[in-house]
Amino acid sequence: MSLSPFNRVLIVGIGLIGSSLALALRKAGLARQIVALDHTPDHVAEALSLGLVDAAGDDPALADGADLVILCVPVGACGKVAAKLAPYLAPGVILTDVGSVKQAVVRDVAPVLPEGVQFIPGHPISGTEYSGPSAGFAELFEGRHCILTPTETADPAAVARLQAAWEAMGSLVTIMSAEHHDRVLAITSHLPHLIAYTIVGTATDLEEHMQQEVIKYSAGGFRDFTRIAASDPIMWRDVFLNNREAVLEMLGRLHEDLGLLARAIRIGDGATLEEKFTTTRAIRRGIIAAKQA
Ligand code: NAP
Repeated sequence: MSLSPFNRVLIVGIGLIGSSLALALRKAGLARQIVALDHTPDHVAEALSLGLVDAAGDDPALADGADLVILCVPVGACGKVAAKLAPYLAPGVILTDVGSVKQAVVRDVAPVLPEGVQFIPGHPISGTEYSGPSAGFAELFEGRHCILTPTETADPAAVARLQAAWEAMGSLVTIMSAEHHDRVLAITSHLPHLIAYTIVGTATDLEEHMQQEVIKYSAGGFRDFTRIAASDPIMWRDVFLNNREAVLEMLGRLHEDLGLLARAIRIGDGATLEEKFTTTRAIRRGIIAAKQA
């Protein structure tokens, strides 16, 4: 679809995703004016000095006149932030978010919005372990998937416009239910983060001489976990608290599978180990073939 630019885009939370969106929206010519709201004065100042946005502050009145509002705060903050913005949201404004969990955002945000606001939850499947306004870059979403989970009441024209905006920033957009999103992301993103946090935590509890060797020989596999485990603690606290059921279900499955592998190791069942590792190698090759590596 041909896409006319938004007049005024409000980005709430000018961290990694918020600043990347500001840069990507501008690069794609999708916004006449971009403003940011953030509760941390240093982040407001940094966003202005980096030239990410035209105006910034901590005042919910920044939403006045916006035709696109994007919540880029941790999942647990979305409801409170939406309630503060609500008096300034005009009918027809598209309000979306980028949170890593979708059902909880719908639960917290939908009830506080005034009638006529087009609420279309979203989640770009792209990121890094860095945080804050200086972490962003315009290409973050290029070639990456972005999931939208519109409710049944969302205006199809608004959904199409938001989809076209993500596509103009280089994303591959998929539409699905919030529930399905949360189950899929529990296994593809949330569980891997939980494992990384656990394994790095286990290593830091080892005796001191072992800890030094963990760092020295980290290229043996541990290093890759440390990158994931360096992700923002607040963001990930909120992900686990808000996608509890799906994460616990996937964790239960992992426990079962770990038990089977532990048994194979204990009884010397090499065929089981080989079969398992051959299957997992195919998954990696599939990710590379899909250009998501
Ligand atoms: P981030 O770099 O920490 O940015 C979040 C920004 O929002 C920070 O400036 C933060 O300030 C501010 N903020 C927090 N609570 C606020 C509130 N109540 N009102 C106003 N500002 C507030 O985090 P991020 O990585 O961009 O993540 C933002 C969202 O994107 C999260 O919902 C996350 O689930 C989602 N997401 C992240 C990734 C990723 O890889 N990082 C990928 C996809 C989606 P303080 O830090 O000072 O609190």
